[in-house]
Amino acid sequence: PVLKVALMGLGSYADRVAKAMQDCKRAKITGLISGTPDKLESWGAKYDVPEGSRYNYENFDAIKDNPEIDAVYIITPNAQHHGQCLRVAAAGKHVICEKPMSINAQEGKEMVEACEKAGVKLLIGYRMHFEANTLNAVRKRQNGDLGEVKFFQGLSGFIIGDPTQWRLDKDLAGGGAMMDIGIYAINGARYMVGEEPIWVTAQEVKTDPVKFKEGVDETITFQLGFPSGVIASCLSTYSMNYLDKFFLLGDKGFVEMQPSTGYGPIKAWSHDGDITKPHVTHQTTQMDQMAAIIYDGKKPEIPVDGEEGLKDMKIIDAIFLAVKSGQKVNLNLG
Ligand code: NAD
Repeated sequence: PVLKVALMGLGSYADRVAKAMQDCKRAKITGLISGTPDKLESWGAKYDVPEGSRYNYENFDAIKDNPEIDAVYIITPNAQHHGQCLRVAAAGKHVICEKPMSINAQEGKEMVEACEKAGVKLLIGYRMHFEANTLNAVRKRQNGDLGEVKFFQGLSGFIIGDPTQWRLDKDLAGGGAMMDIGIYAINGARYMVGEEPIWVTAQEVKTDPVKFKEGVDETITFQLGFPSGVIASCLSTYSMNYLDKFFLLGDKGFVEMQPSTGYGPIKAWSHDGDITKPHVTHQTTQMDQMAAIIYDGKKPEIPVDGEEGLKDMKIIDAIFLAVKSGQKVNLNLG
C-alpha cells in the first residue's frame, strides 16, 4: 500500500519534503497540519489535499477518525516534537519525526514508549541513512575494504543568519548548532564506525554571546570513544562555513565524503579514487523506504527508529554535560 502522510509544520523543510514526495512511488501527501490558515489553503490546493484533511494545532487530534491519514510527518521546531508525537500516537497514527527527535533523552524515551504503547511506528527523519553514497561507505567498512577502522572525523557547520529565528531560541530549539547539525556528526560517527560510543569529551567556544544566548551553543568540539578503541573527533558550529565532511580511516584505506550530509549531490572518494554514486533526491528515497519499513516490515541497513534517535539524544545530553563539567562522560547506550 501507499503510505498516506499528513505533513505537520509547513515551513521550509516541509516544503522540500513535499516537493520530493511528488516523485515517491509508495508515499503521498494526504493531510496538512498548520497554524496558518493561508498555508492550509495554498498547500491544500497545490497538493490536492481536501479541506476535510486540513487541520490546525488545536484540532489535529481528530486525525484519529480520518482513514486518509496513516502517518504524520512532524516538521516543526525541535521543542514541539515531543508533545506533538504523543498526540499523534494517541490518535493511533504512525509518527515520522524530524531530527532532533526531541530536546533531551528523557523526552525521546517518552516518545518511544508512547508509540510502543499505541502500537504505532516511530521513525526519525534521518534522510542520510538511505543515501547511496552513505550506504556505500558503510558497506566498504563492513566488507573489509578499509581494513580495521581506526578513526573518524565529522565536521558539521555553517554560519547561521537571522538572530531572531527559532533555531537561536533555546525554548524552541533546545540548544544551538548541536541540536541542528552537530547531530549529523554524531549519528554519522555511529553508522560509519559501526559501533556505539562508550564515552564523550567536549569543549565549547562562544565568540558571540549576544547572538548565541545561554543554552544556545555556537561551537562545540567533541570526541567519542568506541569499544574497539576507535576515536571520533567532531565539530559542530553555527559560525563557520564549508563544514560538511566525513572521513573514515582504516588501516587499509579510507572513505571521505564532502559534502557528506547536505541536500546533495554528495561527493565521495576513497583510497581507490572517486566513488561518488548518482544523486537521487534524499527525501524521495527516504519516504519510499519509510513506507516499506511501515508496511513491509523492511529492516533498513542503518536503523531510523525511535530507539536510534534516542541514542543520539543520549549522546547530546552527555556532550552538554561534558561541556559543563569539563569531565569525560561515560555512556551506556545498551
Ligand atoms: P522552519 O522555521 O522553516 O519551519 C518551521 C515551521 O513550524 C513553520 O512553518 C512555522 O510556522 C511552524 N511553527 C509552528 N510553531 C512555531 C513556533 N512556535 N515558532 C516558530 N515556528 C513555528 O524550520 P525548518 O527548517 O522547516 O525546520 C523544522 C524541523 O525540521 C526542525 O526540527 C529541523 O531540525 C528539521 N529539519 C530537518 C532537515 C533534514 O535534512 N532532515 C532539514 C531542515 C530542517
